[in-house]
Amino acid sequence: MRRFSKSFTQQEPLSEASIEAAVAVMRTGRLHRYNLVEGEKGETALLEQEFASSLGVPYALACASGGYALQLALRACGLVAGDRVLCNAFTLSPVPGSIHAAGGEAVLVDILDDTTVDPDDLAAAARETGARFFMLSHMRGHIGDMEAIVAVCDTHGITLIEDCAHTMGASYAGRPSGTFGKVGCFSTQTYKHINSGEGGLLATSDPEVMRRAVIMSGSYMLYDRHLAAPTAESFHDTRLVTPNMSGRMDNLRAAVLRPQLAELKARQARWTALYRRIEAGLADNALVDIIPRHAQEDFVGSSIQFRLPSLSPERITRFVAGCEARGIPLKWYGKPQPEDYTSRYDSWRYLPATRALPNADRVLAELCDLRLPLTFTEEECDDIVQLMGDAMEEATDKTTNP
Ligand SMILES: *Cc1c(COP(=O)(O)O)cnc(C)c1O
Repeated sequence: MRRFSKSFTQQEPLSEASIEAAVAVMRTGRLHRYNLVEGEKGETALLEQEFASSLGVPYALACASGGYALQLALRACGLVAGDRVLCNAFTLSPVPGSIHAAGGEAVLVDILDDTTVDPDDLAAAARETGARFFMLSHMRGHIGDMEAIVAVCDTHGITLIEDCAHTMGASYAGRPSGTFGKVGCFSTQTYKHINSGEGGLLATSDPEVMRRAVIMSGSYMLYDRHLAAPTAESFHDTRLVTPNMSGRMDNLRAAVLRPQLAELKARQARWTALYRRIEAGLADNALVDIIPRHAQEDFVGSSIQFRLPSLSPERITRFVAGCEARGIPLKWYGKPQPEDYTSRYDSWRYLPATRALPNADRVLAELCDLRLPLTFTEEECDDIVQLMGDAMEEATDKTTNP
């Protein structure tokens, strides 16, 4: 059997610009973000400044991970222990995990057929629970109807926090993802859009939320060493009543990220070209339902999802196995035991009793996912489509698999 031989988890190596910037930091020994000499701004503060400016917001904070940024956002927005936090049911485990870590209780909200949150169920969940927070995860880069979502949040007095782990560089109606809510949270972990191994970024336009986030992240009162934060004097009332929950970024990671941030637009174009190529190929297969993209959405196609609504679970199982045998590690969210990033809401058993989520149950049972690393070419995407087509024929062949 012909196999696709490249790895779906191999990202591009870091550019020479990133490597040189990292070596320069190492030569100084000043890896801690606040360890600066006279006149030095520091890689971390510069990254924050450049990131804030890329989003068109005044404030940004770099921190230890995307999940940490989410926790920090909830705490900085005033979450107190036991607060309910709404969250779309299709997301990754660090999202409900961050709500739990911050002392909140996640309340899941149903999704639409395109995998984005259902604004009507969001309103229903808001009425049922009186929740004051909604953590909106733009899962796998799909941005929902932002006008409707923001309207529901406004009506119910809900603070919106965006999980942009899969939408760094994306926008909706011309506005960057992460600037619709009170806080936008991003990840710079290896499998996201810029790579420092681990890392997170948080962006906001609210000065008090930013002051709290800076102090909580472990700033040791060195507020003047931030370039995308409110003035150091303005921290006066906040500084003694806000705990330090250490989770900073260091200059080494920031140094490798800055050249990548400058390249993000170009990466988006390359990713989306791969995505559109696979999408066009899969659209020819009558058994495959492509996820429609909103006209307003300018996404980053770093992974692709599709549904198999007319196939039985047995046939999907055979299709996934056939893809695997051809070197294509397709993820299926309907698998009885969830695996790695297919993490499904029913595997978060520490959550309090969940609401009925009929649409999420139906959509996830037929949803498949494929990563698209930038180490692939468009011709290789055609090959992947071809091999998936072969696996599909085999899985649905009535003579061998009635
Ligand atoms: C990766 C990811 C996160 C968390 O990012 P880390 O940097 O790994 O903590 C949050 N949400 C989603 C949807 C993710 O995929």
